[in-house]
Amino acid sequence: MGNETAWQEAAINGRFGGKTIIVTGAGSGIGQATALRVAKEGGRVIAADISKERLDALVEENGGLDLVPVAGDISTEETVAAVVVAAGGRVDALANIAGIMDNFAPIHEVDDAMWERVFRINVTALMRLTRAVVPLMLEAGTGSVVNVASEAGLRGSAAGASYTASKHAVVGLTKNSAVMYGPKGLRFNAVAPGPTITNIEAVWGSQLAAERLGPLMQATVPTPATAAQLAASITFLLSDDGTNVNGAILASDGGWSAL
Ligand code: NAD
Repeated sequence: MGNETAWQEAAINGRFGGKTIIVTGAGSGIGQATALRVAKEGGRVIAADISKERLDALVEENGGLDLVPVAGDISTEETVAAVVVAAGGRVDALANIAGIMDNFAPIHEVDDAMWERVFRINVTALMRLTRAVVPLMLEAGTGSVVNVASEAGLRGSAAGASYTASKHAVVGLTKNSAVMYGPKGLRFNAVAPGPTITNIEAVWGSQLAAERLGPLMQATVPTPATAAQLAASITFLLSDDGTNVNGAILASDGGWSAL
């Protein structure tokens, strides 16, 4: 898993030179910042998102970068297959970042549609894409997967029941895969963001969040991070810089979860 030569090459070519990296949720926020950071460091990025408009804008605004857009709902086998085809038989790293928030409902107010939608996108999609990519990584004997969980995957009071349970599932999947595939040269880690300025972040500051989470929670919410700060945490684990890290859940929240 990595050696001095790889690090020296990275210093010359960028950490992702010659590598193919899949990034989901690449149309906005943390996914977009990660896709750009990887591409600027020399990587070929398979940029997946449900929004074709966002991907078109991303590619148009970043003409010099190697961004391959794949538009579609990543929870469907059809889009998963399209992403793998676009990668062309080789995936060095995968960043599962696409995700949605719930409506802060505690369990007695959860409706089935919300629960199923949150789990389909936050958990099932991540499982399906990882399931499709792991055989390629096993064949190569190397690979790094980074799943974006949440501060709500570490404790119980930052979101509604659906989102909190879904992000705890992401943490569990990450740890299980780290144990299962670590001996075969693959690494699985998660990044758990706190509030971050993205399209999702508008939900955090909403009246609904204030009502649901209560004054104590609101008083302790830290200054939101930028998506670029989260991209820095994610690319550390995606790259050979994280070569000795497997099964870690990296809180990237300015210390919020340490409270
Ligand atoms: P965002 O809304 O800015 O970006 C999410 C992207 O995912 C969007 O471009 C959206 O189109 C895409 N997406 C949604 N459903 C999809 C699907 N079915 N198929 C393909 N693409 C889909 O949000 P963000 O804040 O950048 O969120 C990224 C991740 O970070 C999520 O998993 C979220 O749960 C997590 N997170 C965010 C925060 C925060 O405060 N922003 C905090 C903790 C965790």
